[in-house]
Amino acid sequence: MAYLNTRPTPHVDYHWLREFMFNGEQIPLMDMQRGIRKPAKLSGALSIRTTYTKPGAAPPYMDNTGSDGFQRYKYRGTDPSHPENKALRRAFEDALPIIWFVGVAPGRYEPIYPVYVVGDDPSQLEFTLALDETQRLLMAPGFVMDEAQRAYAMRETKQRLHQRVFRSQVLLAYTTKCAICRLKHPELLDAAHILPDSHPNGLPIVPNGLTLCKIHHAAFDNKIIGVRPDYSLHVRPDVLEEVDGWMLKGGIQGVHNTSLAVIPTVRKARPSVDRLEERYAEFLAY
Ligand SMILES: [Zn+2]
Repeated sequence: MAYLNTRPTPHVDYHWLREFMFNGEQIPLMDMQRGIRKPAKLSGALSIRTTYTKPGAAPPYMDNTGSDGFQRYKYRGTDPSHPENKALRRAFEDALPIIWFVGVAPGRYEPIYPVYVVGDDPSQLEFTLALDETQRLLMAPGFVMDEAQRAYAMRETKQRLHQRVFRSQVLLAYTTKCAICRLKHPELLDAAHILPDSHPNGLPIVPNGLTLCKIHHAAFDNKIIGVRPDYSLHVRPDVLEEVDGWMLKGGIQGVHNTSLAVIPTVRKARPSVDRLEERYAEFLAY
């Protein structure tokens, strides 16, 4: 799995997954026809897949988080003995790590790994997944979670799944460039929320996101730069009057009364006007 760390972009494309080589042998990591992939040579499943959701829609996994904070993955069909379900059950029984590929654009996936199957519920036709080692321990047989551990599990699911997929989708929508200054180093870019995670409309979906570099993200979050619903930029008056070095001058004051330099080409992926309006009202009230 270390190979996944050498990939050039935060996400992987189907071509890369299909051509994947291990020890000189081609072992496709994903099967376009099947959600659960089990190579003939392996005893259990190697990977699972969730297809891409369009920019304005909430991804299906958001409805599949249990009240215990753990993610569920639906069976293939309704037959618990279907070969794909059996392959994933085998990964559960043998405690094998798997990779979860979550669609972030057509044919592109964010890999979440290692993921473990920690439960199997034929009555609900679903498996339970652990997204990290701690979640795995919390689901160990006989262990009873308390409220704090449940909250931890929920937080981990948000960070390791929702926020990672959100980041990948938002960066792709903005062609991996800061929406304000066009900086294009992914290491220096964040997917900023327009309305925060804690807000009822603060969903991790692309129209609630902006790709921003670290400086512009912090300036946006700290109400130094505001984005109007028409995508024009406004710098807080007291900051406009400060005298300081080139970063303040060019990076902050210089963007006043300009517009977002990068917006997604797909209309539905653009920042939602309602969310910007609400956020901009907070900026003015600061
Ligand atoms: Zn920037």
